[in-house]
Amino acid sequence: MIMGKILDGKAISLAIKDEVRAEVAELEAKYGRKPCLCVIIVGENPASQVYVRNKVKAAEYTGMESRLIALPESTPEAEFLQKIKSLNEDASVDGILVQLPLPKHINEEKVIDAIAPEKDVDGFHASNVAGLWLGKDRIDPCTPAGIMHLIDSTGCQLAGKHAVVVGRSNIVGKPVAKLLLDRNATVTIAHSRTADLGAVTRQADVLVVAVGKAGLVTGDMVKPGAVVIDVGMNRNAEGKLCGDVDFASCQPVASWITPVPGGVGPMTIAMLMKNVIRCFRQRKAY
Ligand code: NDP
Repeated sequence: MIMGKILDGKAISLAIKDEVRAEVAELEAKYGRKPCLCVIIVGENPASQVYVRNKVKAAEYTGMESRLIALPESTPEAEFLQKIKSLNEDASVDGILVQLPLPKHINEEKVIDAIAPEKDVDGFHASNVAGLWLGKDRIDPCTPAGIMHLIDSTGCQLAGKHAVVVGRSNIVGKPVAKLLLDRNATVTIAHSRTADLGAVTRQADVLVVAVGKAGLVTGDMVKPGAVVIDVGMNRNAEGKLCGDVDFASCQPVASWITPVPGGVGPMTIAMLMKNVIRCFRQRKAY
């Protein structure tokens, strides 16, 4: 039996955050200013509050400046857009992150479009998305970038491998498929209308699952020796966090596998920290 090694996102992300921490100190010494991340949250969504807290905590760990702007649920769209405009114009702010989802009366697309692309640390702005698909300079979205980092840390050479991505969202499935394609993997994207999902996933040397359904992928759907990346974040019946991959049945088949929690989640935050540094350097607003 192979018994997949655990891809420890927590440890790998800590090493990245330590690198960022050294870079922050270096940038401050050189330019007299720390990189600054501004996180905006609207309303009281408990999951969003946890995510925002973790992002601010990570920023504090790296020594960069972080600002948290918490706005009431009732904030009118126009006022919210005005807030973003003022952060775009604030030379001391390098990265702007709006925690999604937003209340229904605020149009998410309008908000993402309003963020200056050079401060778009989530990589969601249309010009960054276009940059990804056209192979131009851009800011990559954090979760897909974190997934690539995890795959690289296994030593897996992607060129010529078959990568299967389950899920086709704009924030995970599609961008990670493009990043895998850029690395010369042969990429298949599966989704809710895929006939016989198992037949597709069993072909994967690298399997990335980003669906949001606990236990969707079971051991019989995994090719022996595959690298399995579980992006899902679900709550099971006991309220415990779990992924889309049934870890118990998949680990014996995979060569490497990410746990949930402690896999992709911490990598997303580490990549966010790297994106802030990238924005700082790119803007040259010293
Ligand atoms: P979305 O809901 O936007 O997309 C889910 C995708 O899964 C869709 O493309 C959908 O297909 C597909 N899908 C749904 N059911 C099935 C099925 N039975 N078989 C195959 N495909 C299916 O989700 P996100 O991409 O935003 O997130 C996916 C998961 O990843 C969630 O659990 C989320 O919480 C988690 N996540 C974790 C992050 C992290 O940092 N760890 C970051 C972002 C997300 P279709 O397009 O046909 O509807």
